[in-house]
Amino acid sequence: MKRLLVKYSSEITLKGLNRRIFEDALIRNIKVSIGKEHTIEKESGRMFIYTASSDLAQKLVKVFGIISVAEAEVVEKEIQDISRAAIEQLKSIVNVRTFKVETKRADKRFPIASMDVSRLVGGEILKNIEGIKVDVHKPDIIVNVEIRDKGYVYTKEYKGVGGLPYKSSGKGILLLSGGIDSPVAGYMLARRGMELTAVYYHSHPYTSERAKEKVIDLAKKLAEYTGSMKLYVVPFTRIQMEIMEKCREDELTIIMRRFMMSIAQEIACRENALALVTGESLGQVASQTLESMYVTNSDITMPVFRPLIGMDKVDIMDVSRKIGTYDTSILPYEDCCTVFVPKHPKTKPKLKDIKNSEQKLSVEELIKEAADGAEIILL
Ligand code: ATP
Ligand code: MG
Repeated sequence: MKRLLVKYSSEITLKGLNRRIFEDALIRNIKVSIGKEHTIEKESGRMFIYTASSDLAQKLVKVFGIISVAEAEVVEKEIQDISRAAIEQLKSIVNVRTFKVETKRADKRFPIASMDVSRLVGGEILKNIEGIKVDVHKPDIIVNVEIRDKGYVYTKEYKGVGGLPYKSSGKGILLLSGGIDSPVAGYMLARRGMELTAVYYHSHPYTSERAKEKVIDLAKKLAEYTGSMKLYVVPFTRIQMEIMEKCREDELTIIMRRFMMSIAQEIACRENALALVTGESLGQVASQTLESMYVTNSDITMPVFRPLIGMDKVDIMDVSRKIGTYDTSILPYEDCCTVFVPKHPKTKPKLKDIKNSEQKLSVEELIKEAADGAEIILL
C-alpha cells in the first residue's frame, strides 16, 4: 500500500491556538489541487494522503505551505517488512552506491529505539544488496523509516515550495503587467498566504489582443500555485489619451502610474481587499525612483507591498525562471507603458506639480469609468 506523506512548514505548527485555521486552509488547498476524492489524514506535523498515484506528488509540491512530499510504502511494523520495502526501493533506483537509514519513532510504544531500527534495517540491506555501503555523512540515498500506526518507508522525497497556505493571510490586489517582475511579486505574497486578485491595464487597440493573452497566461501560471485567479482587465486607453492631450509629456508616466494605483485601490474596495501589490524594484526605471514612488503612492491609503523593492533584476529573473513565468514574460508583445513612453520621463517629479497637472483631468470620473468597464476573467 502506498501513501503520500506531506510535511508542512514548521511556521504552521508554531501557530499556537491558530494552528487549526492554517492546517484547515492547507487541507482545503490540497483538495483544490488534487481533487476532493482523496482521504487526507493529519498526524503530528504531517499529513497522509491515501493514494497510489505519484502524479499527485507533482501537483502537491506547488501547494504553498508544503515543504516536501514523499511516496511512502506502508507496511506492518516489523523489521522484516520494513527491510523488505527498503530493499525493494533501493533496488529500483539505479547507481546507488551508498545509503543510510534514518528512523523516526512517532509511536513511542514501539519497543525498538530509532537508532536500533536504523541499524537492523541497514544490516538487512547490506545482506541483500551486493556492493552497497553505508555512508552516514554523504549517502547517495537516505532510506527514511517512520514508525506510526504502521511502518512507513520512503526513499523519494520531493521538495515543496514552502510558505503559508494560500488564503490564510488576507487579500490583496496584484497589479499584473506582462513583464518579468509583477508575476514574481505576486508569487512572493501568495506564498506568504495572501489571496490575490489580479488587475491588468489594457490599452486597446494600442496594445494587442496577444499582449492581453500573455497576461492571462501569466495569471494561469500563478493559478498553478494558488488553485485559481480572478483577473480584471481594465480599459486604460481613454485615460492615457486624456493625459497625453492635457498634461506635459514628461509627466505622462507618473500620472498614468497614479491612475493605475487609484483604480487598483477602487477595485480593492469592491473586492474587500486590504492591500496593493506591485513588481516595483528601487531604481529600476524612471518611474521607480524613490521620488516617483512617493508621488505614485501619495493618494493611496491602503498598504502597498513591493516585495521586489530591494532585489536586483538578475535575482528577480532567477525566481521568475524557477516559478515558471519567465518564458511567458519575455514574449515580445508591447505593454501599455511601452506604447505611451515619453522621451524624457521625469525621474524626480514633485507632488505639487503633478497634482496641479491633474486638475485638468476629471480624475474621479475616469477612475470610476475604468473600474466599471473592467472585464472580469476567472482562471
Ligand atoms: P513588470 O516587469 O512587472 O512589467 P516593469 O519593470 O516593466 O515591471 P513598470 O512598467 O514600471 O515596471 O511597472 C511597475 C509595476 O507597475 C509593475 O510591476 C506592475 O505591478 C505595475 N504595472 C505596470 N504596467 C501595468 C499594467 N499594464 N497593468 C497592471 N499593472 C501594471
Ligand atoms: Mg512592465
